[in-house]
Order: sequence, then C-alpha cells, then structure tokens
Amino acid sequence: MFVPKTFLAVGECMVEMAPTGEGTYKMGFAGDTLNTAWYARKCLPDSWSVGYLSAVGQDQVSGRMIDFLKSSGIDTGEMRTLGDRTVGLYLIQLEGGERSFAYWRSQSAARLLAADRAHLEQAMRKAALVYFSGISLAILPESDRKVFLECLKIARSGGTQIAFDPNLRPRLWEDAATMRECVTAAAGLCDFVMPSFEDEFTHFKDATPQESAERYLQAGAGMVVVKNGSEEVVWASDRDFRSFQPGPVPNVVDTTAAGDSFNAAFLATFLAGGDVVASVEAGAALAGRVIQHRGALVPCLEPIGQD
Ligand code: ADP
Repeated sequence: MFVPKTFLAVGECMVEMAPTGEGTYKMGFAGDTLNTAWYARKCLPDSWSVGYLSAVGQDQVSGRMIDFLKSSGIDTGEMRTLGDRTVGLYLIQLEGGERSFAYWRSQSAARLLAADRAHLEQAMRKAALVYFSGISLAILPESDRKVFLECLKIARSGGTQIAFDPNLRPRLWEDAATMRECVTAAAGLCDFVMPSFEDEFTHFKDATPQESAERYLQAGAGMVVVKNGSEEVVWASDRDFRSFQPGPVPNVVDTTAAGDSFNAAFLATFLAGGDVVASVEAGAALAGRVIQHRGALVPCLEPIGQD
C-alpha cells in the first residue's frame, strides 16, 4: 500500500476576524504554523501528506476550523478534541490605515496540544518532517514544553527531520529570558532553523544575519536560513555561509505570512531534492507573491502575472 510521507505542522490555528466595513468582520482561520502548512500543501507533490497537529473544542466554530483544514487538503487526523475548551480568536482593527490585533487565546484548546505525550510522540515519529515555531512553544505550559522537546528528540533519532521558525513573540512568554532559553534549546534539536532577522536583532541583539546564523549553528542547528525582508537571505550550514538576494517585489501590499510562506516553499523544494539555491529562490518567489496581496492565505501559485 502506498503511504505518503507526512509534513506535520504543529501549533495554533485561530479564528481571524478581519474588518470589512464599519462594525462588520469576515471570519477566517490563520496562525503562523497553519499558514506554513497551507502553503506547504500547495507546494508539495501528492506523494506528501500535509497534516496539522493542534487541539480544538467540540463546538461549532471548532468544527468549522476542522472543515476549513480539510477543505484545504490538510490532514486533521492528529488534531486533539477537548470537550471543555474552544479555539483562540483574534480581531484585526484598522485605525488610520494601521492594523492592530486583539487576541483571545489564553485559554485556547491549542495550549493543550502537547498534554497527551504518547499521542504527540507517536505523531512526530510517524512524520517525515515536523514543523513548529516559537509560538507553538510559547503557548504551552512549561512542563509541556519539556515534553515537546523530548518528543522532537525521540522523533529525530528515528529519522524525522525537524524544522523551526523561532518567531519571537515575547508577549506570549512568561519573560524574554525564558523565550531566548527555550528557543535556543529547541533550535539545537533542529535540522532547519528559519528565523527572521528583524526578530533576532530585536530580541537576541544580533548585529547581522550572519551572527544569528552563527548563534543557531552553535546551539546545534543543522542548517540556518535567516530571512530579512527585502534584504539578502543568509543560509548557513557546517560553517558554509552563503547569501542570496531576493528579486525586487513591485507592489508590496501586506507582508503578513511572508516568512511563513517562504518557509513552506523552501522546505517543499528542499524535501523534493532541490538544492539550497533552488529552495531559497522558491521561498523568496512565493513570499514575493504573497506580499502583493492582502491577508495571510493567498491563492497565488499560478504562473507569475496570472493572479
Ligand atoms: P517575516 O514575515 O517572518 O518577518 P521577512 O519579512 O523576513 O519574514 O520576509 C520573509 C521573506 O519574504 C524574505 O526573505 C523575502 O524573500 C520576502 N520579502 C519580505 N518582504 C519583502 C520585500 N519588501 N521585498 C521583497 N521580498 C520580501
């Protein structure tokens, strides 16, 4: 029997309420790891399954989230369902053209995604690649973070590859020092660490993307890909530092999910046997298209110029 390889993203998908007018909102679903899973599904061949591991409630909105994932071609077999919780939500507010976000996520079901260790370990071990972010870690109770890292270690020793975007969000952590410590420990267990320099500069005080790459390599990462908006992408592995200039993007409308979509196309290309140049090019090409549209999830894999 043919069993597809699995790209398993782990984290929190939330309800998104985006303004459509005075007091009216459109409901959607988004979240950093979900965005990457969504784009990975579009980039990977059918010989790959893309799954999402998180937790939802048993209520109607949780059901709609599951339906959304399924309709996007994302496998929901590893989702946990909890009777006494529901999914997190955020509201996008527009004031004078500036967007701000209000969150209701402190009691979300996703915070318990690692509470069943046996389930987490088994799901990770079955996957060819596990993808997660600093947000996936931040939302977990401290003891579950340890469990999460132990499960990653076990899965990796069995051949699962691990990819991680630190996505540093200090407000989600108890304090910044804990965030830096946990992110560094997690990076040391990974084959791919894919930070954005703006975050690393702000929270680790790295002077250059090369410094961020060096720091994560020293922590034990196998390969580091540092994104930096319109600036060069720095790629580092085994002391081999290379940089790539993404092509110019003519009409940047909304940079939401730039990094998430870059990660998906980079990993999909690399997993399909592409070399690092092709993988960075694919990442930058997809991100470059995503940021020319509003919103996180943009159907934009048609040939350039068609959408
Ligand atoms: P994040 O969304 O995580 O902050 P970045 O802003 O670093 O990530 O962007 C990720 C990738 O998106 C970059 O490496 C680049 O390929 C592309 N990108 C983002 N902003 C721009 C831009 N202004 N011009 C061209 N490419 C961009």
